[in-house]
Amino acid sequence: MSDAVATQYKPLIGHSISELESFAESLDEKPFRGRQLFDWIYRQQVDDFSKMTDLSKSLREKLSKVSTHPLKMLNREESLSKQTRKFLFEVSGGKMIESVLMKEGNRTTVCLSTQVGCAVDCDFCATAKMGFVKNLTAGEIVDQFLQLQKISDQKITNVVFMGMGEPFLNYKNSIAAADLLHHPRGINMGAWRVTISTAGVAHKIKQFSDEGHPYKLAVSLNGSTQNQRLKTMPITKVYSFSDLIKTSKDYAYHSRNRVTFEYVLLDGVNDDPQDAEKLNRLLNSIDCKLNVIPYNEIGGPYRRPPDIRIKAFLHPLKKASFPVTVRWSKGQDIDAGCGQLATHLEKVE
Ligand code: SF4
Repeated sequence: MSDAVATQYKPLIGHSISELESFAESLDEKPFRGRQLFDWIYRQQVDDFSKMTDLSKSLREKLSKVSTHPLKMLNREESLSKQTRKFLFEVSGGKMIESVLMKEGNRTTVCLSTQVGCAVDCDFCATAKMGFVKNLTAGEIVDQFLQLQKISDQKITNVVFMGMGEPFLNYKNSIAAADLLHHPRGINMGAWRVTISTAGVAHKIKQFSDEGHPYKLAVSLNGSTQNQRLKTMPITKVYSFSDLIKTSKDYAYHSRNRVTFEYVLLDGVNDDPQDAEKLNRLLNSIDCKLNVIPYNEIGGPYRRPPDIRIKAFLHPLKKASFPVTVRWSKGQDIDAGCGQLATHLEKVE
């Protein structure tokens, strides 16, 4: 294998079926060898070429020049409840990301990162404090799933793109990763089990809708008016609150998929029962679900509301025409709750 080919395809995880066919051809092999590689990597989830028994010995020897995994796992932590585990990975360039594995009954969900750091700068979020560092490749996104599936004692049933970063500011690679998770000849994760979450990059929601991607969409709303949202989410300056609501509504209408609005509840900021009343009116005509997330503190100025205020906020939502759920984030003892992911370490060479 020439060095140029080895560099182009290294590591193999992240390549689509057609790219692996081209890879096989560049090694003077038939394209079906690329399809076999796709099957081993994504469906059978085998990462050792010597175990890919239907590949010829000569091909396996050629493959020794490339690696499979783009990520190196550096650390893992487990919550006291043992239901949540957080993982630290090294990505190319020696930067770090975190991913979270959560168990709840028969459901095992992995929360994937799509960027190192984030440029969106939500005021309540630990990742925002890192600033934007870089986009992850599709391989770096999907490898979080593959490595965690390998060590999980249960099959991963759901994937959420809600870790570090804004998936729609790394749109192409996030969609390519979702397509690899969903591919019927590979991991074969049902599209309804893959949720992509955005802080509200409205033109990308429109693109996502126009392109007809089958994955579920979640939108971080976190406010009931333009001014209130602007206080914690500066992105509202660029994509106004009303635009976001309209784009989300259009998405739900055209895709016939229910949109999930996430609402991080912050003490004294957006937790007034009148905010809940406003949400009732605002979301009434949208095919949606509202997910209320009492804030996970990260040592900054924001607090989680006391239980009595959370209850008071939820009360008006009892008459909502859309489903409302409360997500009591798990794994706060290891900073693995929503909005708590951040890496502080650079690789020590
Ligand atoms: S909440 Fe999401 S979009 Fe906002 S800064 Fe954090 S990672 Fe970025």
